[in-house]
Amino acid sequence: MNTQEMVEKINKLKDERNAIILAHNYQVPEIQDIADFIGDSLELARKASGIKDKDVIVFCGVDFMAEMAAILNPDKIVLVPSPAARCPMAAQLPADRLIEYKNKYPDAGVVVYVNTLAETKAEADIVCTSANAIKVVNSLPQKTVLFGPDANLARWVAINVPEKKIIPVPQDGGCYVHKKITLDDIEKSRREHPFAELMVHPECPPEVQDAADFVLSTGQMIEHAGQSNSKEFIVGTERDMTYRLQKLYPEKRFYPINEKRICVQMKKNTVEGIYLSLKNMENKVSVKPEIADKAKKAIERMLEIK
Ligand code: SF4
Repeated sequence: MNTQEMVEKINKLKDERNAIILAHNYQVPEIQDIADFIGDSLELARKASGIKDKDVIVFCGVDFMAEMAAILNPDKIVLVPSPAARCPMAAQLPADRLIEYKNKYPDAGVVVYVNTLAETKAEADIVCTSANAIKVVNSLPQKTVLFGPDANLARWVAINVPEKKIIPVPQDGGCYVHKKITLDDIEKSRREHPFAELMVHPECPPEVQDAADFVLSTGQMIEHAGQSNSKEFIVGTERDMTYRLQKLYPEKRFYPINEKRICVQMKKNTVEGIYLSLKNMENKVSVKPEIADKAKKAIERMLEIK
């Protein structure tokens, strides 16, 4: 079966199963093209929390995102095209490690990045994404805040909320895709595209954040590119974000900061995986109810922040 035939079958199965396909901005173009909704973690969480009329959600992202959709939709079936699509950063702050930090800093607020597993979210006061991390930290009454697992995002928050003490947990957590973005990447891409604005993700290293024109979540990149008078943009995040931007704004030009900055885990999802998961109703995501209840409170607290 070729891709086009598979897409036709997926569309038929979607009707039969009453399903919706959600996809993260870093999914391959073929998946972005068949998704019903594409977004960053925050947009996907908001979308997932509002799904009323569907029975099945096919979630094309990584483990923690699909878990979140399952937590927010206990009455629906959540499927993933590939159970092997697991974010390595989410494994860097297991729940028992966070509990150790909480015992060490009992008066601190606890913010965990959305890139954590449900057990860890269950131990947090509130969840955040890169789009709302600053607002989330500002919403807490505590002056000291444990923030993990991304240390570069923690540093970005600390710069923007100087009145609070942000403690990164662990000290060196982070995303291998964004950590590989370097000043050399910036230098080369600026040389090739001298009139382009440079947008980078806050998971990038400090020197990259400091050298950029804008530090933005992927959702904020979309917003900024739409509002800016600039016609060209260098995009400092996962490669396939440029596909999304290019499709939204065909009159502008978007260049990945480096074609090699690819999240291998996100790419484990395929069109065939979507087809098979829907056909066989396989790769169901489930979260233990006692963990889901606690994690849901931390997620909902985030979703209440406008
Ligand atoms: S891009 Fe980084 S943070 Fe996002 S899923 Fe891949 S490894 Fe995890």
